[in-house]
Amino acid sequence: MRIDFRSDTVTKPTAGMLDAMMSAKVGDDVFGEDPTVNELEKKLADMFNMEAALFCPSGTMSNQIAIKCFTNPMDEVICDQTAHVYRYEGGGIAYNSLASVRLLNGERGILTPEMIEPEINDDNIHYPNSSLVVLENTVNKGGGKCYSLSQIEPIHHLCAVKGLKLHLDGARLFNALVATGDEAKDYGKYFHGISICLSKGLGAPVGSVFLSSNEIIKKATKIRKVLGGGMRQAGFLAAAGIYALDHHVNRLADDHAHAKTLALALSEANFVSSVMPVETNIVLFDVTPNYKVEQVIKALEAKGIFCNSTSTKTIRFVTHLDITATMVDEAIEIIKKMNI
Ligand SMILES: *Cc1c(COP(=O)(O)O)cnc(C)c1O
Repeated sequence: MRIDFRSDTVTKPTAGMLDAMMSAKVGDDVFGEDPTVNELEKKLADMFNMEAALFCPSGTMSNQIAIKCFTNPMDEVICDQTAHVYRYEGGGIAYNSLASVRLLNGERGILTPEMIEPEINDDNIHYPNSSLVVLENTVNKGGGKCYSLSQIEPIHHLCAVKGLKLHLDGARLFNALVATGDEAKDYGKYFHGISICLSKGLGAPVGSVFLSSNEIIKKATKIRKVLGGGMRQAGFLAAAGIYALDHHVNRLADDHAHAKTLALALSEANFVSSVMPVETNIVLFDVTPNYKVEQVIKALEAKGIFCNSTSTKTIRFVTHLDITATMVDEAIEIIKKMNI
């Protein structure tokens, strides 16, 4: 059995999702004429109480478009030092938006108003203009840790008082909603922009959606075109997103339960020194100093378990739609018997 914990992006469309894709009504989305893309955009905007939405090919593109919309050249973006927008988007903030970045040391990527406030620059000719705060929920590098809305509210308040925009990289926002019990409809009022990935835990093959105001989405549509992200009969892909929103949200709780069971088994393994507490579908664990991560990854791979490292001592397991309860049981048996 091949058990692939490398990422929640490795899922393949289910039969039901493929049916929905095959029967999608499509049109030219650059002309705004794809009914299925329009339906997906409206569905998500309504769900989160935002005015409008834009379907993008990737989460990177939707985040980069957001940053471009919310900054001017020479501005500064404030985010955690582990943020995807900073670490894993190829230096896009500098390249696309000509902005600098102020990195904070959050608690597993979670920021507080007390951390942010002293890092907001005064209006002074020497300083870059602090214009945008980016939060990530769940935090990928923080082992899937979540913000609750009660933690976001005071950050929103600070940004409002200081005149900064607030964007949410919500690549795994539905995981956070399922884990915290917060409601999607309450998110819109706290953020100027939200990006959501359909191709992570939700199990669609492609796509991300950027949510914001009508005015910002108009600007975002132009930027998406310039970046080469204007897609034509994209309704086939949007149909997968709609299907995922209808069928794959509640089941994220299974992924979270699987991650917790795996974490428990890993915490007892001789090659593991510590496991980060699990909140959603990501398990991060440190390898005991007498082993190398490559060695552990290879040994697991030889038994059919695939995973990645996130640092020289940390390994990541991600649970998702294509990880069944049987696979979790099998993985636990393998981990128990492992003798590296
Ligand atoms: C995956 C991910 C993204 C977007 O990635 P793409 O591969 O470009 O879709 C953005 N933010 C976070 C936290 C992610 O995990």
